[in-house]
Amino acid sequence: MASLCGRILLQASRRPIYTSARCGSKSLADSLDHATGLEKRELLAAIAGDDDPFDLKVFKRGPGTKDCPNQVPSAFESRLVGCICEEEATTINWMWLKRGSPRRCECGYWFKLIEKTPI
Ligand SMILES: [Zn+2]
Repeated sequence: MASLCGRILLQASRRPIYTSARCGSKSLADSLDHATGLEKRELLAAIAGDDDPFDLKVFKRGPGTKDCPNQVPSAFESRLVGCICEEEATTINWMWLKRGSPRRCECGYWFKLIEKTPI
């Protein structure tokens, strides 16, 4: 058995490896070349410097009064918004915001949907 394994290893080490300079020059295309539609617009926005084109990052609430509500940008008529009412809260209070009607969270902060041009 040991001699069989030794012969297999010896044959495997003698096998030539074929390489070609032509194959070495090929490389994968950039992901921007393959992307289409929304993904391409997202990549172009990232190149332009906008790392959050869909406004998905968490932002800190402002005063949040009825006269000066927290403004939530959206390209649609409504958007689902989550409010972390207290700093140590382990749950998120989700609510739908509709354009034209500011909404008050259970914690007392007001939110308003503002129009944003889609990417
Ligand atoms: Zn809240």
